Amino acid sequence: MSIAENLEKIKSELKNATLVAVSKYQTEAQILKAYNAGQRIFGESKIQAMSQKYNALPKDIQWHMIGHTQTNKVKYMADYVSLIHSVDSLRLLVEIDKQAQKHERIIDFLFQIRIAQEDTKHGISEVQMNEILTSEIYLSLKNIRLRGVMGMATNTSNIEQIQSEFTQLKSVFDRLKKSAHSNQIDILSMGMSGDYPLAISAGSTMVRIGSAVFQ
Ligand SMILES: *Cc1c(COP(=O)(O)O)cnc(C)c1O
Repeated sequence: MSIAENLEKIKSELKNATLVAVSKYQTEAQILKAYNAGQRIFGESKIQAMSQKYNALPKDIQWHMIGHTQTNKVKYMADYVSLIHSVDSLRLLVEIDKQAQKHERIIDFLFQIRIAQEDTKHGISEVQMNEILTSEIYLSLKNIRLRGVMGMATNTSNIEQIQSEFTQLKSVFDRLKKSAHSNQIDILSMGMSGDYPLAISAGSTMVRIGSAVFQ
């Protein structure tokens, strides 16, 4: 199937969830095919590669950083990044805030919560997230805006395990929404090519899909 057909099929399964097309392994020409089929949100896992694509491609694309974010590279995306999915420390937030301030903008972000059993997946616990949210430093940051949480399920064929991890993340999201930490908690980023139908059933509002779009 073509990229346009893949996009159409995936979108028909998403209900109201937003599709982030993960373009980390794609050339600019491939991304343009998805763009010409109407896709406007793309996700990248490396800041420098994302910036090159940002410079080369149409300016109405919204770029999401979904990979582990290094503090010393935040400055390269601060003027244009639309959402950072992978925040896992207060130190990183301080830097994002500082760079956002330089560009006189507010940068939206998600906390990456570790739900998988694997050691290879980044992220923090709900307790660590709440420690950040209640710290004095966090409360002083004015140029960042928390929108929700992101998580990756274990890479396994065990459907019950994936379901239970997604349900766990949905609960973290619901508790965050009820808490006083932000007035705009509306993004639950979970679901990839291999597990997005399960994520949607569990309440995902944003899926990050790469191979199923570009295969
Ligand atoms: C690569 C990646 C995806 C997309 O993975 P696919 O299996 O290609 O859909 C989603 N989220 C993150 C954080 C990724 O790094």
